[in-house]
Amino acid sequence: MAQIGFIGLGIMGKPMARNLLKAGYSLVVYDLRQSPLSELREAGATPAASCRDVAAQSEIIITMLPDGPDVEIAILGPDGVLAGARKGSLIVDMSSISPNVSQKIGAACVERGVGFLDAPVSGGEPKAIEGTLAIMVGGDPAALERARPILEKMGSAVTLTGPVGAGNTTKLANQIMVACNIAAMGEALVLATRGGLDPEVVFNAVKGGLAGSTVLSVKAPMLIARNFKPGFRIELHQKDLRNALLAAESLKVSLPLTSLVQQMLIALMNEGKGQLDHSAIAQFIERMAGIEVKKELAAAA
Ligand code: NAD
Repeated sequence: MAQIGFIGLGIMGKPMARNLLKAGYSLVVYDLRQSPLSELREAGATPAASCRDVAAQSEIIITMLPDGPDVEIAILGPDGVLAGARKGSLIVDMSSISPNVSQKIGAACVERGVGFLDAPVSGGEPKAIEGTLAIMVGGDPAALERARPILEKMGSAVTLTGPVGAGNTTKLANQIMVACNIAAMGEALVLATRGGLDPEVVFNAVKGGLAGSTVLSVKAPMLIARNFKPGFRIELHQKDLRNALLAAESLKVSLPLTSLVQQMLIALMNEGKGQLDHSAIAQFIERMAGIEVKKELAAAA
């Protein structure tokens, strides 16, 4: 079994790394924070001193970091993966970042004789824990076949969508649909609650129909229970929509709904809500209506 390096042990990376350990892989891990390193050492992984140190000990190196600048530091930086990677090793970046940054990193890897795939994920923390993420991959088909057995320990659907960068373009499309879906859910449940209905009854009434979706099934119960513990943070979704709008500008397409939800996310961050789960997008709409979507209010209405 290939020796794997894993860099970035946050909400997503930690359970993904645990699934690789459970599958019997030997893992070298690194994060800027000490606490996940200690937890994974107890689970059987070997902590490393830097990204470079991870690469020196691994054949396949996975990164799961917040945004493009973090991935650039971790891979291209002076103490980064490429500084320690052996020729013929493979880097799989599973972070959600701008496709342009994936292409820049992919080109730097080619120059050093190192393979590169961008392989962002969808499904959030619950599916990261279950090992059932949807993984969208950009890169060389042969490199994907090399990584596939490992990716299949973390995800239940692994799809090649095109060359390097295509994984992240697919992920941006995914993030547009999720953000707009949450905003639409917020408007719908604010209207129903103001109309004196129990939002839970409304949710149960519509979830099996055309308006039903994974987003609705996961996020409506969180909103109704006023549980905004992340999950996927507002500030990370803002980052994804920013990357989508930058891609839209360079491709000369208009994304009016994405722009609108992006403005909501920025406003929520300015209110100190950047660390809340993205189901809190609905709070922007609630504030405009002066109402909260919850059972008690509906009962009192
Ligand atoms: P997170 O902030 O919880 O974790 C990121 C980790 O990276 C942190 O532990 C941080 O200390 C570490 N880190 C940052 N820079 C580093 C560096 N240079 N070297 C080593 N470690 C470094 O983020 P997350 O929620 O796990 O998300 C990771 C990526 O996955 C993001 O791109 C996000 O958009 C994407 N994603 C998240 C979710 C979700 O539901 N949370 C779902 C799908 C995709």
